[in-house]
Amino acid sequence: RAYTELQTGLGALARVQEVLSLDPEDDDRPARPGTTTAPRLPAAGDPTPLLELRGVDFDYPDGTRVLHDVSFSVPAGTRTALVGPSGAGKSTLLALVEGFYPLSGGSIRWAGTDVRDLPRSVLRARMGYVEQEAPVLAGTIRENLLLAAPDTPEAALRQVLEDVGLTPVVDRSELGLDVLVGDDGVLLSGGERQRLAIARSLLARPALLLLDEPTASLDARNETLLRQTLETAARDRALLVVAHRLSTVRDSDQIVVLEGGRVVAVGTHDELVETDPLYRELATAQLLV
Ligand code: ADP
Ligand code: MG
Repeated sequence: RAYTELQTGLGALARVQEVLSLDPEDDDRPARPGTTTAPRLPAAGDPTPLLELRGVDFDYPDGTRVLHDVSFSVPAGTRTALVGPSGAGKSTLLALVEGFYPLSGGSIRWAGTDVRDLPRSVLRARMGYVEQEAPVLAGTIRENLLLAAPDTPEAALRQVLEDVGLTPVVDRSELGLDVLVGDDGVLLSGGERQRLAIARSLLARPALLLLDEPTASLDARNETLLRQTLETAARDRALLVVAHRLSTVRDSDQIVVLEGGRVVAVGTHDELVETDPLYRELATAQLLV
C-alpha cells in the first residue's frame, strides 16, 4: 500500500509542477489578441451552445495523434456523456476543454467565443474539473471544501456534503467537518474521494462541470451515490462526464461514443442501443439491454 501511495503522491507532484510551471500571467491574457471580458453565458434553451468542439485534432508532443476531427456541442444546462474503450482519448478531450494543451487543429468555443480569444482565467472561473484520480489534500474536510470558495457559510458546506452523499462520513466523527482526512481521521474510499472533489468543485458554482469517472473502483453503493450526485449537480449546470459505467450516464441528454480518437456515434442511450454496434456491445456487457 505504501508503494501505491508513493505512486499517487508522485503523480500529484508531477501535476503540481506542471501547473506551477505555467506562467501565471498567461492566465489573464488570451492566446490571441481577443477580449478579457467574460462572454455572456447562454441560458438553457438558447441556440448558442455553452461549449462547442469543431473538428478538434490533437497530437501529444511526442507526435502521436490522439484525437481526429472531434465535433459535438454541449447546450447550457444539459448533460453529455463521453464513453468508449480505454485509450479512446476521453481524458485527453477533457484536458483540452479545460485548456491544458493547445489544439493541433479545429477549435473549441465557450459561449460562442473561440477559447483562444479568452483568457484562461475566464474559463477556469466557470468550469469545474474533477479528474479521474481525484486528489484529496491533507487537512480536514472543511479545509478541503474551502479551497474552492473560502467564504462559504457553514450551512452551504453542509448542504453540498448532503448533495454528494457525504453527510454520513462527516457524522462518523464528533469533529464533524473538522475531522482530518486520512490515517489520523476518516479514511475515504475512492468513491468518497471523488465525491469530495465534486463537492469542492460545485462550491465554485461552475456553469460546466467536467468529470472523469473513476474506473472500476466504485462499488454499487458508491455508484448509486455518484449517480444521485450528478443528478443534483445537473440541476444548475451543464455536465460533461466521462463514464465507464453506462448506468451512470444512461439518462444523459446525449452520449458521445469515442473510439480511436474519433466520434463514432452520438445519441441517447435508447438510440445508441438501436444504432451503434460498439455502444450496444458495451451496454450488453454491462447487462443494460
Ligand atoms: P481514455 O481516457 O479514453 O482512456 P486517454 O485520453 O487517456 O484515453 O489516452 C488516449 C491516448 O493518448 C492513448 O493512446 C494514450 O496512450 C495516449 N496518451 C495519453 N496521455 C499521453 C501523453 N501525455 N503523451 C503521449 N500520449 C498520451
Ligand atoms: Mg481516461
